[in-house]
Amino acid sequence: MNKGRAVITGGAGFVGASLCERFLESGYAVTAVDNLCTGRLANIAHLQSNAQFQFEQRDVIEPFDIDGPVSAVLHFASPASPFDYQALPVETLKVGSHGTLNCLELAKRKGSRFLLASTSEIYGDPTEHPQRESYLGNVSSIGPRSMYDEAKRYAEAATMAYRRTFGVDTRIIRIFNTYGPRMKHDDGRVVSNFLSQALRHQPLSVFGTGHQTRSFCYVDDLVGGVQLVLERGDDQPYNLGNPNEFTMLELIGAIEELLGPQTVTYHPLPQDDPTRRKPDISRAIEHLGWQPKVALREGLLRTAQGLRLQLGLG
Ligand code: NAD
Ligand code: UDP
Repeated sequence: MNKGRAVITGGAGFVGASLCERFLESGYAVTAVDNLCTGRLANIAHLQSNAQFQFEQRDVIEPFDIDGPVSAVLHFASPASPFDYQALPVETLKVGSHGTLNCLELAKRKGSRFLLASTSEIYGDPTEHPQRESYLGNVSSIGPRSMYDEAKRYAEAATMAYRRTFGVDTRIIRIFNTYGPRMKHDDGRVVSNFLSQALRHQPLSVFGTGHQTRSFCYVDDLVGGVQLVLERGDDQPYNLGNPNEFTMLELIGAIEELLGPQTVTYHPLPQDDPTRRKPDISRAIEHLGWQPKVALREGLLRTAQGLRLQLGLG
């Protein structure tokens, strides 16, 4: 089945690389576009021999073109972990604003469908729990996470403007905390930090009391949802995430079941760190029949295997 060419920005990143794999397997030709600021060529090395796959190293903050017809543009380029986007604040604002406009322009020129990778961060520190797509959020425009949250909010507004003004066929997904084997061991996110620390026999670094919650989705589940939204979704945002909610102390409990007892050190909670987060995925279930399948224990096991290799621990 030939589904045409999908352009995946951020294709050398943690999620982007799994998306490239998934789309190649599903009958798309894939062009991954990435400036490698937080991504790694190692993530896509195994795809380079596939004739249907191309990699273009470029910064989507600058206007760009792709040769030939394009059936879909999926905009995943952006630093994504708090550690990364706080180290690259202006780049994060630009890839969410100029970068999104450049990807929308490409989709408009080519007559392609466009999908924006937005985030649960657009809900900020939510006062509604679990979060439905109709919730408008509780976001600081000046706090230490604002460069990411506001860039993504702008990107959603730009996407809707191109739909309403130019008739681009758009999709928006709001991704909740996703994890998997290709996360960088030093990206600062909680799953990669805790697992890397446990594998190296270091204490696990808990920020705050560890009672804050997140809902962790395994990357394979997520990319299946992305494809369904692209092919069968409508113009309104879809939450994509795993609704099983855990405190950070419960996450440590799950890691201890896999890797044995751990020691813990406590550190100050970063400013504006959301207290809790859990997606309401009714829309994705009802419209698309999508829901995550991989349990936390299984996902952590696979992620630990990936990180063990990355850390050279065999
Ligand atoms: P990642 O950092 O691994 O991947 C992002 C990729 O984008 C990297 O390969 C990076 O080099 C590339 N990139 C960044 N700026 C670029 C630019 N200007 N031009 C070209 N390429 C650029 O992060 P990820 O976790 O894979 O996230 C991918 C997308 O999903 C991001 O848009 C992120 O906001 C979104 N998302 C991820 C999560 C999650 O839990 N992983 C949650 C919500 C949203
Ligand atoms: N966190 C932690 N220890 C770490 C890294 C993160 O306790 O080493 C906490 C962090 O304060 C937050 C949660 O884990 O409450 C999730 O953090 P992450 O950076 O993974 O994602 P986000 O905050 O963007 O959801």
